[in-house]
Amino acid sequence: MRNVVIIGSGCAGLTAAIYAARANLQPLVVRGVHAGGQLTLTTQVENYPGFPRGVQGPELIERMHEQASEFGAEFMPGNVTKVDLSQRPFVLEVHEERLETSTLIIASGASAKLLGLESERKLLGHGVSTCATCDGYFFRGKDVVVVGGGDTAAEDALFLTRYANEVGIIHRREQLRASKIMQDRLRRNEKIKFLWNSVVEDILDADKREVSGIKLRNIKTEEGTIKPVHGVFIGIGHEPNTSLFRGQLEMDDLGYLITREGSKTNIPGVFAAGDVQDRVYRQAITAAGSGCMAAMDAEKFLEAEH
Ligand code: NDP
Repeated sequence: MRNVVIIGSGCAGLTAAIYAARANLQPLVVRGVHAGGQLTLTTQVENYPGFPRGVQGPELIERMHEQASEFGAEFMPGNVTKVDLSQRPFVLEVHEERLETSTLIIASGASAKLLGLESERKLLGHGVSTCATCDGYFFRGKDVVVVGGGDTAAEDALFLTRYANEVGIIHRREQLRASKIMQDRLRRNEKIKFLWNSVVEDILDADKREVSGIKLRNIKTEEGTIKPVHGVFIGIGHEPNTSLFRGQLEMDDLGYLITREGSKTNIPGVFAAGDVQDRVYRQAITAAGSGCMAAMDAEKFLEAEH
């Protein structure tokens, strides 16, 4: 039986692993489908303290992984497919394998949201993407659009200007939600064009399995247009990966885990850290901080028992 199992290997999970390993708890990290979390999908991180000239997201994650391994954390590939938190030890299934653990730290993060169009689903990986840094390279010299008006969309759009000919930002309002500094950068970039008050009604051409354009509707004028593009990047935010815990752990209306007194969930011995429980800050540094809290809370919990 394990002392601590950590679900997720992003910033929160890895920081929890570093702290739990240094406390001699021999944590096991189940890495998850998107091993390394959202930082592996980004490029330059400019706001993580300690890196005055920035650091590449994947490099930061790699360093955290190495640091956790140095202290004895173990890693397991794969995804948790089942959890039973009704009694202790808690039982987890990672595909066919069964794990038992005294405490559990959930750091399963959040995943990119989709628009919900049939054509979007069919064209994912065929011109529709949720990760500009992964797929931007394929759109060298092409026209692409980014849907969304927050920092994710802004960051994706700026990144795409490295490759694309033109990057349209499609936003359902006429005011961006993105931070001021990002907005300024967007406005200064000649490759970026804004399409305000617009929603994507369809992505063409699902039958051909490639993107040739998008059907847009202006929600103020009700005017419909077709814009020829080769790539569509969805940057409309994220949703927490909590479906596994539905009915077992308390969640808010958007499905984020509810934590109290630090990282505690409603089940003693189960802790949550990072984006899975944070709908407000969602930053690498806050995820790391909460991962630290979860490991310390788990350690205290185990200490109190023995
Ligand atoms: P946000 O929730 O901030 O923004 C989502 C955007 O997508 C909004 O503009 C929203 O429109 C739009 N949107 C949501 N749903 C739909 C839909 N169904 N159809 C069309 N548009 C939709 O998410 P982000 O991922 O951008 O950012 C999350 C957090 O992470 C923020 O705190 C952000 O600051 C942070 N972040 C920071 C970065 C950095 O510092 N480098 C990089 C990326 C994110 P509306 O505005 O109308 O609600």
